[in-house]
Amino acid sequence: MTFGNILRSDLTKTKTILDERYLGFTYEATDFTPAQEYNYIIVGGGTAGCPLAATLSENYSVLLLERGGVASSDPNVLNESNIVGNILNAKDKGTPAQPFISEEGIPNNRGNVLGGSSMINFGFYSRADDYFYMKSGIELDTVNVEKAYKWVEDGVVSIPDPLNTWQNSTLQALLESGVGPANGFTVEHLQGSKIGGSTFDGSGRRHGAVELLNRAHPGNLKVVVHATVDRIIFSSGVVRQLELFIMIQKGFLMKST
Ligand SMILES: Cc1cc2nc3c(=O)[nH]c(=O)nc-3n(C[C@H](O)[C@H](O)[C@H](O)COP(=O)(O)OP(=O)(O)OC[C@H]3O[C@@H](n4cnc5c(N)ncnc54)[C@H](O)[C@@H]3O)c2cc1C
Repeated sequence: MTFGNILRSDLTKTKTILDERYLGFTYEATDFTPAQEYNYIIVGGGTAGCPLAATLSENYSVLLLERGGVASSDPNVLNESNIVGNILNAKDKGTPAQPFISEEGIPNNRGNVLGGSSMINFGFYSRADDYFYMKSGIELDTVNVEKAYKWVEDGVVSIPDPLNTWQNSTLQALLESGVGPANGFTVEHLQGSKIGGSTFDGSGRRHGAVELLNRAHPGNLKVVVHATVDRIIFSSGVVRQLELFIMIQKGFLMKST
């Protein structure tokens, strides 16, 4: 059965094994001595930061700094059944989810953990709308975009099959209220109702963006947790040279050129 332009069977290879190879190059800030230079320093090991670090590390030295910790053993993060409790128990510090109020005054939550908000979210996965590409004004290389989608989908996306009670009742409610057509399974962004991908596997275990770090070149990437970036000082005194100083919570100073 086709699934957008992906074979459904590609995504049903269930990702039940939690892959934690990234722990081999992940350090606590208090135990880490940084190198003098990195080609790239990424602030925030979240949904975007983890895959960015992994792909850059194929050719460059990369330091990834994340203010939160590692949630590998936290059942509130890993188990689909704990999604809501995790949000309800969110505190300003020390919990994977952190409550905040948006600039518009709306209470919300965000990730404060390696993997970022992909470790606390509802796991629904869909490719972007064509309109998004048109509006971006960027001429994207569609072949590479397709490759990037597949890279993510191979790593962390499964098909929810069978749907759980909540998913099924939401789908039925949408269909009954006339949100059609019913598109079945697809990762494409289509008008109507659909069953999209999920970062929860068949046994209800989350596969957040943190697992995309496993695709990194391990010799080129250092991930440091409990490392909050306070300020970044740019100095452009020398042509093609960028000096970047980052103060992390332990208080030492790093330099990247
Ligand atoms: C409850 C909830 C449910 C959601 N459900 C879905 C869903 O089902 N499907 C979907 O597509 N989207 C969902 N989203 C939205 C989606 O999760 C986010 O849009 C996405 O994860 C944001 O990715 P990001 O990389 O921009 O930020 P994040 O993933 O939040 O990453 C930012 C990272 O930066 C770190 N950081 C921040 N400041 C610093 C600093 N000064 N120093 C060091 N590190 C720092 C943070 O700790 C965090 O890890 C949901 C969001 C929430 C809150």
